[in-house]
Amino acid sequence: MSHKLKVGELNEAYLTEEEIWRIFTVVLSSKSVKSSTYKFALIKALIENLYQVNDRFELTYDQLAYSFTKVYWNLIVKHNLVKQNRGKNARVVTVIKDAQQKHQIPSDFSFDKLNGQLQIKLVSEIKTTMKQNVFGALYGDTGGKFYAFEHKSEYFKLNPAVHNFMLKYQRLVVNLTNYHMAVMIESLNEVPSINYLLGKVESIAKRSSLRPFEKILLNHFEHTCFYCGKPLSSAKGKTHVDHFIPWSFVQSDQLWNLVLSCQVCNNSKSDKLPKKYYLENIISRNHVLVLNEKDEKVSSLMTNYTDKKISLLYDYSIKNGFDVVWGQ
Ligand SMILES: [Zn+2]
Repeated sequence: MSHKLKVGELNEAYLTEEEIWRIFTVVLSSKSVKSSTYKFALIKALIENLYQVNDRFELTYDQLAYSFTKVYWNLIVKHNLVKQNRGKNARVVTVIKDAQQKHQIPSDFSFDKLNGQLQIKLVSEIKTTMKQNVFGALYGDTGGKFYAFEHKSEYFKLNPAVHNFMLKYQRLVVNLTNYHMAVMIESLNEVPSINYLLGKVESIAKRSSLRPFEKILLNHFEHTCFYCGKPLSSAKGKTHVDHFIPWSFVQSDQLWNLVLSCQVCNNSKSDKLPKKYYLENIISRNHVLVLNEKDEKVSSLMTNYTDKKISLLYDYSIKNGFDVVWGQ
């Protein structure tokens, strides 16, 4: 039984895109009786951490468990979709429901609103579940070709070919994963329609507040709009934190991709990619954050950032259809 595996080596380093597509399609659409939504949540966690890999394509179990827990908290608590497999409740549902009841957390609380200690406790419990049921299972489903892992040292390494593929086809992979996840949740829960669910599944990884990032940016930079340079009003709701490369593409909140913006620029930019000229500006802006030595929080948020990463991300977003460029 592959889900019982404690360690898995990478079976094939050189995969063609065709092979990767084939494996993805099989994994996403397979309808085994024992299936749960686990594999979709792990793929969503991988997508959210694509830009967090180090130069050896490694991620930590904690990074993956954090994203995985957030996905389930929002599905189970916020959207009340408790059926995540057939038969008795999935372990992750029990862990989350128990925590919600014990701490009497209202169901409109998204994961990032929980206090830090509770988040850490939940992530740690769910990491244990992932070791028992998740890492080995997706490893087996992908024939050991997508990643290597080892529970003891919590080692996780993506196949570089798969990493490259996921960047290149990110939008398609995200849409396919959301679609198949919604189909499975629909078959397990009584819900109005697949479109109702797609909206929920698309946004489950999204953070509800970017306030912590706003504070960091206000601490480190002048209070002016990154795009037009005008002073930012301190009135409530007038200063926006903008995903430089749109969230709908990156699907995650990275400090190095967030800028302060005035309301006018933020509304007008919306879901579009800024002109190349701004890319140079955000790269110099990020240098300031990288060079900072006093703020440990910032140093940790900038770990694994490179100029090349944001430039690649910019090019990949164009390849993925974000070709309407915004700005003067
Ligand atoms: Zn502006």
